[in-house]
Amino acid sequence: MTSLVERDRRVVWHPYAAPEASPLFAVESAQGVRLRMEDGRELVDGMSSWWSAIHGYRHPRIEAALEEQLHRLPHVMFGGLTHESAVRLCERLVALSPEGLERVFLCDSGSVAVEVAIKMALQVWVSKGRPGKRRLLTIRGGYHGDTFGAMAVCDPVTGMHGLFEGNLSRNLFAERPGCRFDEPCEDADIADLARLLEQHRDELAAVILEPIVQGAGGMWFYSPDYLTRVRALCDEADVLLIADEIATGFGRTGRFFACEYAGISPDILCVGKALTGGTLTLAATLANDRVSAALGEGDPGVFMHGPTFMGNALACAAANASLDLLEEGKWPEQVSSIGEQLRSELEACRSLPAVADVRVLGAIGVVELHEAVDMSVVQPEFVEEGIWIRPFGELVYTMPPYVIESGDLSLITGGIFEVVSRIA
Ligand SMILES: *Cc1c(COP(=O)(O)O)cnc(C)c1O
Repeated sequence: MTSLVERDRRVVWHPYAAPEASPLFAVESAQGVRLRMEDGRELVDGMSSWWSAIHGYRHPRIEAALEEQLHRLPHVMFGGLTHESAVRLCERLVALSPEGLERVFLCDSGSVAVEVAIKMALQVWVSKGRPGKRRLLTIRGGYHGDTFGAMAVCDPVTGMHGLFEGNLSRNLFAERPGCRFDEPCEDADIADLARLLEQHRDELAAVILEPIVQGAGGMWFYSPDYLTRVRALCDEADVLLIADEIATGFGRTGRFFACEYAGISPDILCVGKALTGGTLTLAATLANDRVSAALGEGDPGVFMHGPTFMGNALACAAANASLDLLEEGKWPEQVSSIGEQLRSELEACRSLPAVADVRVLGAIGVVELHEAVDMSVVQPEFVEEGIWIRPFGELVYTMPPYVIESGDLSLITGGIFEVVSRIA
């Protein structure tokens, strides 16, 4: 009999993979923090399915909400029609997000949320009669998605801009802030960004960045001070600020939104990933009055975007159930105790020859190596250890579901130590 993995290799593409993905493992089901593999093995999940499954898999409250929605209204077009689950979700996102963000555009994925944010920013300046302001400024080491607009603000090196030369918008890139999370931001840390903002203010529509935690572009945690200063510099230069909280949103960094560390509010905010608790694809772009007023008053007076599956009712129901769970208020303690345990247990990795740095913030643990891992070697080794960890480049990291228990988290940290210790 042909195995699932063999069938997959004939017809399926995987993310960032060769046509025949390797190594590849088949999952049969998932429950709580465990993936049950086709061969009967169980893996403790250290990835939350790319930051999304924060309540673990098959949470009964999310399942119940999906069932109820499924039998009432799974989906309806959002052009000219609305429904309770979407309105309720948008009301709640406005209430939970930083001050001033008051209107929500629902999107189908994080990359689309970023496209929407960029289009909003560009349309604002057209409306204001300043169409020359159409470039973006971002910081190196960022990740904002894989569609063209989003890709054009990803790190030019890890985002492989060279492959798409000529088709990407020519944006501006400032040095990554050198100041770590617990350090102050010195003038030198922000000099490059400040200079670019000042020099290009008349052609810049917005600064876009991941607040506090740069995720898939380098897993770097930087100083809230830096973010506070970016907000002030954007105001001085009359440039919008877009915060991409697709990875950081919903508690992962220890605050509900990472912007809260700096006490700032962006003009545009993107959320996604954990929004539905990892069950369905949904993202959102929130805008403040400065953005919505300019768009509404300008010509054509409408925002030019509208996905077919916008406001998908099933996804909104899942998101509402996930927010219900977060509002029960257990997450701050869960995230902080995961952080404490990661800090103490990953520390052992620091002395290993392959390791360059160990850092933890919120429920995110990173072991940075001197060299990129060989996935064909380490991926099966993590599975052998009974854990699901998916490194990229030189970064081995975990952001487990918030509901993970301490014994299971020790399996993850112990497994990481074992596998990393075998790397020369
Ligand atoms: C994952 C991610 C995206 C892209 O989201 P998709 O749902 O994969 O399109 C954008 N920005 C950040 C910060 C992300 O982590």
